[in-house]
Amino acid sequence: MSAKIIDGKMISQEIKNNIAKSVKQRVAEAKRRPGLAVVLVGANPASQIYVGSKVKACEEVDFFSSLYDLPESTTEAELLAKIDELNQDDKIDGILIQLPLPARIDNATILERIHPAKDVDGFHPYNIGSLCQRKPKLRPCTPRGIMTLLEKSKIDIKGMHAVVVGASNIVGRPMSLELLLAGCTTTVTHRHTTNLRQHVETADLLIVAVGNPGIILSEWIKPGAIVIDVGINRVNDKIVGDVEFATAQQRAGWITPVPGGVGPMTVATLMQNTLQACEQYYDINNQALIR
Ligand code: NAP
Repeated sequence: MSAKIIDGKMISQEIKNNIAKSVKQRVAEAKRRPGLAVVLVGANPASQIYVGSKVKACEEVDFFSSLYDLPESTTEAELLAKIDELNQDDKIDGILIQLPLPARIDNATILERIHPAKDVDGFHPYNIGSLCQRKPKLRPCTPRGIMTLLEKSKIDIKGMHAVVVGASNIVGRPMSLELLLAGCTTTVTHRHTTNLRQHVETADLLIVAVGNPGIILSEWIKPGAIVIDVGINRVNDKIVGDVEFATAQQRAGWITPVPGGVGPMTVATLMQNTLQACEQYYDINNQALIR
């Protein structure tokens, strides 16, 4: 068997094209373009690349964007003041703080300061809580992007046993909430899981988000399973996922490649969330939620 490839590059391009059409329509109706502020603290090379791809995506869909490239020495108080300013800025619908932040700055304090209506990363407790209570508002980008990949590939996951490997606040945990909402029986595994292999062997839908290229052996994959590989690892100057693609492809029914699978969807979904924030909270409610 050779798995069908879930082409994230193609699907993300389709999403960005649709967003660009919506922006054109807004401009034709004399509405303003959606705006995204991206805030980077320090000079982490990987973060600089991620931030660059987000700003480039804004250009592709014709959003207004502003990049704040703050020095490593930025204090928590200074960053909070920047967020307060952006929360009040009418040109800005979405605020993205690029993670990781320098260790002396508390992530939770920063992310909770972003107004939930501008929280396009979907990490604010209000947005995570809304997803948890089955009333999603702004949803974390990578898990939402994975749900879009499955929908666009017309894969009906209701009733499946989904196994999520990794339980981070950014990917694994919100992913499990999305899967529950979609009607999957969901198992979440993490660092302390003792029988990972047994869980993986029973997965109809396997989502791996650890950052360890050796973590899943292809022989564990249930024949015909859907395999979504979130991992991004640099090995011998090549980018690989957490799943060994060539061998996993021989067992799975569907599989995402790395690169070209989940990665481009995360950025496209950020654009979707920014448009959503603009439409929901600016057009309809104008300033009510923001002030
Ligand atoms: P993270 O914060 O380091 O979390 C890794 C998770 O893996 C943790 O929950 C950890 O468990 C769990 N884990 C560690 N060892 C495990 C094991 N033996 N069995 C099961 N789970 C184990 O990383 P992340 O931010 O979630 O990212 C994960 C990977 O996805 C990285 O390679 C990252 O670069 C990539 N990523 C890709 C995208 C994309 O758009 N494609 C987006 C985000 C992240 P504990 O919670 O118990 O520590």
